Amino acid sequence: MLKRLRDSGHVAYFAGGCVRDSLLGLEAKDWDVATDAPPDRVRQLFKLSQAVGAAFGVILVKSGRSQVEVATFRSDGVYEDGRHPSSVRFTSAEEDARRRDFTINGLFLDPIEDRVIDFVGGRDDLNAKILRAIGSPAERFTEDHLRLLRAVRFASRFGFEIEPVTREAIFALAPRIKSISPERIADELRLMLTPTTRNIAWTLLWELGLGREIFRFLPKPPERMDAQRSIFLNVDVEHSISFGLALAAAILDARGQPDIVPLLTRDEVSKSAAAMVQALRISNREYDEITETLAGIEPLLQANPPTLAQKKRFLARETTLQSRLIMDAMARIGIHSTRIQQLRADWSELSAGDFAPAPLLSGNDLIALGIKPGPQYKQILDGVYDAQLENKIASREQAIELAMTLRTA
Ligand code: ATP
Ligand code: MG
Repeated sequence: MLKRLRDSGHVAYFAGGCVRDSLLGLEAKDWDVATDAPPDRVRQLFKLSQAVGAAFGVILVKSGRSQVEVATFRSDGVYEDGRHPSSVRFTSAEEDARRRDFTINGLFLDPIEDRVIDFVGGRDDLNAKILRAIGSPAERFTEDHLRLLRAVRFASRFGFEIEPVTREAIFALAPRIKSISPERIADELRLMLTPTTRNIAWTLLWELGLGREIFRFLPKPPERMDAQRSIFLNVDVEHSISFGLALAAAILDARGQPDIVPLLTRDEVSKSAAAMVQALRISNREYDEITETLAGIEPLLQANPPTLAQKKRFLARETTLQSRLIMDAMARIGIHSTRIQQLRADWSELSAGDFAPAPLLSGNDLIALGIKPGPQYKQILDGVYDAQLENKIASREQAIELAMTLRTA
């Protein structure tokens, strides 16, 4: 692809993220091409192409099984809405590098001559592990507020320090993040708060003043995040986590401690998760994951220890793993740690056996028994299943007998 552009007399380089990633020795997600060929010319040269961002001069070119974005070198005009330039102008490679957000994202690679073209000092910053805005940080973040979050995402993903002036500008402009659409904010959070580098992102979000802007809908967002008290920061980081789990931990962190049980009631949990939907337009599946993860914990941390049935029911939940990761984090910072340690021991024993046996009785059985249908069906079936889980009954006959004593009509 690059070669065809070259052979037709154009300048063409790999640009942006792919150059950064390959210099870091990482696998690049997608190989974007930047060229001096205007969009029309690109479309002429590549029959299998599609104008995706015509206004920005971006053409999607089919190459084998994949697609490559070919973008004409451009410089962006004035930004009016804190997100999009009102116009673009096609220009030189150097100007194209300068319109990009961070120096490490402003590199070009000429794979034919095996040469990195660096107009912005990106290579030095890559080597020194520094994230630095190109040009005047304050101006760059004022133009496009999404860059405030991109900074946190890249700094955390690569473990880079944010250069002090860039950092100051983010802190000063953090309130502007509110003008970015909830979906875009959620997309960035999803990328930074799920991988194993998420703790750096969580810490940076609060240090830089972005956390309390983004999570301002929660009653008491703290000023900073303290590793001794943060549940989020104490979730095991060996693996990446789902966004739902990340937000569940976020809710607990942002709502303060130590009296955590009242925050875990289904009511409270639904309120916070609904606020997350409002603020971040998260999916229904993510909403459910948050509520199930947190509500599943509540019965286990009451003053009275949970019953055998409650412990088994917990193990059979879809969000057991998520709830356990949160509880492990709680125990680590001394919230309900004795109880949680006991539960861990109980669960390892229970998991060896059948903690979710097929119910001895079903709704059809109740009909056959002539019990009047209604809300009491659930109560009876729950009661019978609890007895089964408690090993108090073991046969269908015993289950029927119990159902008859539990019925009210
Ligand atoms: P990732 O690996 O996460 O895709 P990336 O660096 O490729 O990271 P993209 O969002 O795919 O990021 O954008 C590609 C390139 O376009 C970036 O490397 C950067 O040079 C430029 N870019 C993207 N978004 C912006 C922005 N908001 N402001 C300035 N430049 C941007
Ligand atoms: Mg990319």
